[in-house]
Amino acid sequence: MEKTDVLISGLGPVGAVLAIYLGRLGIDVIAIDRDTTVYPMPRAAHLDHETMRLLHLAGGADAVLRASQPLSAYEFRNADGALLMGFRPGEASPATGFPQSSMFHQPTLEYALRARLSELPSVSARTGHALTGYTAGEDGVRAEIAGPDGDYSVEAKYLVGCDGGQSLVRRIAGIALDDMGFDEPWLVIDARLKTAERLTTIGLQHCDPRRPVTSMPMGPGRHRWEFMLRPGETAEEVVSDDFIDGLLAPFIDPASVEVERRAVYRFHAVFAKAWRKGRVLLAGDAAHQMPPFLGQGLCSGTRDAANLAWKLAAVIEGRAGEALLDSYQTEREPHVRAITEMAVFMGKVVCTQNDDEAVLRDRDMLAKPEPERFSVMPEALGLASGIRGGDTLAGSIFPEPWMRNGDGRKRLDDEVGPSPFIVLRDAGSESAAGFRGLGCFVVEPDFPLVDEETRLKSMLEDHEAILVRPDRYVFGRGPAAALLASWRHYLQSGAVVD
Ligand SMILES: Cc1cc2nc3c(=O)[nH]c(=O)nc-3n(C[C@H](O)[C@H](O)[C@H](O)COP(=O)(O)OP(=O)(O)OC[C@H]3O[C@@H](n4cnc5c(N)ncnc54)[C@H](O)[C@@H]3O)c2cc1C
Repeated sequence: MEKTDVLISGLGPVGAVLAIYLGRLGIDVIAIDRDTTVYPMPRAAHLDHETMRLLHLAGGADAVLRASQPLSAYEFRNADGALLMGFRPGEASPATGFPQSSMFHQPTLEYALRARLSELPSVSARTGHALTGYTAGEDGVRAEIAGPDGDYSVEAKYLVGCDGGQSLVRRIAGIALDDMGFDEPWLVIDARLKTAERLTTIGLQHCDPRRPVTSMPMGPGRHRWEFMLRPGETAEEVVSDDFIDGLLAPFIDPASVEVERRAVYRFHAVFAKAWRKGRVLLAGDAAHQMPPFLGQGLCSGTRDAANLAWKLAAVIEGRAGEALLDSYQTEREPHVRAITEMAVFMGKVVCTQNDDEAVLRDRDMLAKPEPERFSVMPEALGLASGIRGGDTLAGSIFPEPWMRNGDGRKRLDDEVGPSPFIVLRDAGSESAAGFRGLGCFVVEPDFPLVDEETRLKSMLEDHEAILVRPDRYVFGRGPAAALLASWRHYLQSGAVVD
C-alpha cells in the first residue's frame, strides 16, 4: 500500500498546477491521469494576467507566452456588423506586468506544466493511471487505481478531484451540481493557418440569430471558430469536413486552413454544491463550469489551485487547523459565481437565435452612443473574504515588485514561491520571527528590491507592513504584530478577525 500526503486525480491544467504548488512546498503528492497524453480537444484559448502570474509561479508561463499573443479587442457585433459591446484589454497589467488578455494554445501550457512536474522530487506524476474508486474516512482516503501494470491502492491524507466536468471524485462523494440554467450546443474548431499571415488580434462574437459565431485568435498561426448549433442539427453531422468547410467559407477560404481539432460541447454553468467533504476536495471543472464567453474556466481553476495548495500544505504540516480548508470554498465560490454570471450574461447576448429577440437586443444595446459601448476590460476581481477589513488594499491583487538579480532583475514571486510573504517597512521588527515560523517569506527593508520600487514604498508610507497571501491577494496592511495575530487566527480557524 503506497502512502502519500495528497492524491490528485486528474492532471489537466488545474491538477498540474496544484501538484506543482504542493511539490514546491515539499508536500508528497501522487498525481494521476487516466490518459497518457494531454486532452486532445479544443478548449481554453484565453488567459488573463492574474492567471499568467499564477502560472509563472508554477513555471508554466514562459512556454505559454512564447505561444500566445495579446488580445487587442473583444467585440460583440450584430448581424449587420454594428458594435453591441466591446472591451479593450490593456497591454500590460499594472499589477502583474503580464498582458491583460493573452490568446494561447492550451496543450502548450499542459505540456509545459507536465515537464515542470517531473522536476519536483516530492511529486510522482503518473499518466495512464485511472482512479476507479475510493473510500474516505476521518483520517484519510483509500483510493483504487488502475495502472498500466495492474490495479493498486493508495492511502492519502487528502484526495483532490481535479478530474474535470464528469468528476468521478465528485460523484462518489455524492456531491450534487447546482445548475444555473444555461445550456447551449456549440461546435468548436481549432485551425492552423497555412499562410504565415495572421487573421486578426481581435476576438469577435458575431451575434447573428441565424448562426451565432465566435472567432478568436489563438497563439501565432492558429485561430478558433465556434459555431452555435441550430435546432435539429446533430453533433455527428456538424463535425464532418464538408459541413465545416461550409461554416468557415463566409470567414476564410477553407483551403487555407488545416482544422487541427473539432468538438461539439454543451456550454453550461454549474457548481458543485460542496467543494469539500472531509478529506475529499474538488477543484477546477470538477467544482464549477461556465460557458467560455469570458475565457475564464481555466483561469478560475488555476485560482482554485492557488487558493488550495498552501492551505493543504499548512494543514498537513501542522501549521494550520482543518477549519482553514473550509475557507477554500467560502473564498473561491463567490468569485467564480460572479465571473460565471458575467459569462452567462455574455452568452445570452450571443446565443439569441430568435429574430424578434435579436431586434429587441439590438435596439437596447445600440441605444447608447458607440464610444459608450466600448469599455476597458474589467480588472481581475479581488477577494472578498479571507482578508482583513478596513483597508481598501486588502483583497486586491498585490502589485508584483521586482528585485535585483545580479546585473538584471527578477520577479519577487520567483524568490518567494507559493508561500505567503510579509513586507516590513522598518528594520528589526519583532514580528519577523513569528512570520517565519508560520512559513511566511519576510521582505525586510534591506531586501534587494529594485530602487525604483516607489509603488511599494507609497503603499507602506503610513503602514508598518503588508501581508500578502500565497495566492497573491493582499491579506491586510497595518501594524506587523496585529497582522501576525490575525494571520495566526485565520490559519487555525479559517476566519479573519481584524
Ligand atoms: C470550447 C471551450 C473553450 C474554453 N475556453 C476557455 C478560455 O478561453 N479560457 C479559460 O480560462 N477556460 C476556457 N475553457 C475552460 C477550460 O478549458 C477548463 O476550465 C479547463 O480545461 C479545466 O481544467 P481542469 O484541469 O479542471 O479539467 P480538465 O482539463 O478537464 O482535466 C481533467 C483531467 O482529469 C482526467 N481524469 C478524469 N477522470 C479521471 C479518472 N477517473 N482518473 C484519472 N484521471 C481522470 C482527465 O483525463 C483530464 O486530463 C474552455 C472550455 C471549452 C470547452
